[in-house]
Amino acid sequence: MATAIELAQRGVPSVVLEQRGATGTREPLFNVAPPFADRLAALDPEGSLTKLLVPVDRIEVVDERTGRVGAREFEGALAPDAARSRGDMGSLVDALDAHVGSAAADRRRWAMVGIGDLENGLRELARTKHADLIDLRPDSGVGSIRQGDGWAEAVLTPAADGAARDAVRGVMLVDASGRDLAGGPRTTWPERSFWLGARLPARTDGSRAIRRTRDIEPTTGAPRLTVELPSADRTLLWTQVPRDPTTVSADAAGALIAERAAAVGAPTPAAGARTMPVTVQLWTSDQPAVGRVLKVGDSVRGPYFMTSSGAATALVHDAPRAVDAITAVLDGAPLEATVGAYADAVRGANARLVDLVRPRLLDDLGVPRGEEQPGEKGPGPGRLRT
Ligand SMILES: Cc1cc2nc3c(=O)[nH]c(=O)nc-3n(C[C@H](O)[C@H](O)[C@H](O)COP(=O)(O)OP(=O)(O)OC[C@H]3O[C@@H](n4cnc5c(N)ncnc54)[C@H](O)[C@@H]3O)c2cc1C
Repeated sequence: MATAIELAQRGVPSVVLEQRGATGTREPLFNVAPPFADRLAALDPEGSLTKLLVPVDRIEVVDERTGRVGAREFEGALAPDAARSRGDMGSLVDALDAHVGSAAADRRRWAMVGIGDLENGLRELARTKHADLIDLRPDSGVGSIRQGDGWAEAVLTPAADGAARDAVRGVMLVDASGRDLAGGPRTTWPERSFWLGARLPARTDGSRAIRRTRDIEPTTGAPRLTVELPSADRTLLWTQVPRDPTTVSADAAGALIAERAAAVGAPTPAAGARTMPVTVQLWTSDQPAVGRVLKVGDSVRGPYFMTSSGAATALVHDAPRAVDAITAVLDGAPLEATVGAYADAVRGANARLVDLVRPRLLDDLGVPRGEEQPGEKGPGPGRLRT
């Protein structure tokens, strides 16, 4: 959606194929680092997207193993700047917490936004302001993509009634499926971590602090992180679990979330609250673009969500760079060099991101840095080619 909206801002038409329905329903929250907010401000200068942002007071880190409590306080009001951060991975790195001590750190206030609310805001923007240039088609799943001389196309899966549907052809194709429909080689890091999440009621005390609590998981003795994300109408709680959470029964998952919520002082989940299992493993695409197909977002990387960088990178880095590449090709720039430069930029962004997020992942797993990890016998240090 972000790529389509930016293309429309430059007068370039697109068709957006979305396999799910017309209304986004995802309940989790995004942590919105300031450059992410900058891009929302630029996508709608009239503020329909930034008005969805709920400012965060501070980020608190509680270590129950040592009793240490730290807090990152933010400066000033929420200050999205439409003129900042576009296509700039460095701006995002400077805003994420690993760089808080550096001179370049971006200390602007963070915010929260509901994932479904943001999806619906982007769709509404497309419908109301760019209806002439964005053809938004929900319930349109793409089964495969193919390309030929001067074109690329998305081949749709059959409709619900089994009827075959046409392919959609264009000059360029953006794979924003999060599934890397074009495929190709990738690099996968061996570490995995497992999480359970749930939507809880909003805090009634008005506090809007992100709280990260570290303790020890009792059955394994491994470090465990529990994160509380606050918003106006809900709280999201994520807690690390020792094994694949899809193998945990709904009752056991609900009981674990209720226990963790009580332990960290988060609101009590409603009876029967649905839990969300997540497995995290870092990977990056070795081939972020091929021919006339540009991949963006989770189609070029497996995000480590605890660092709030996945959607942020898609919006700050990939979408603007893809727009630049597409408009350059439409203006007559050579295809191969333009697409190659896009792929290089994404590889560079991914390298910076992995440098930033992998230490955090190892911390969360309780794996000392610098130690060889199980499975680190791939072609590069700590990597497996797949
Ligand atoms: C639990 C969790 C918390 C996170 N928290 C944060 C955070 O706080 N901050 C942050 O920046 N990032 C966060 N992330 C990462 C973030 O969710 C992703 O990086 C981001 O959503 C990627 O956006 P995307 O548009 O590439 O993919 P998606 O959001 O996955 O969107 C892909 C879209 O393509 C559609 N689609 C898929 N396949 C097809 C197909 N074949 N045909 C048609 N349509 C298709 C899907 O329905 C979907 O709408 C989190 C991730 C998780 C799992």
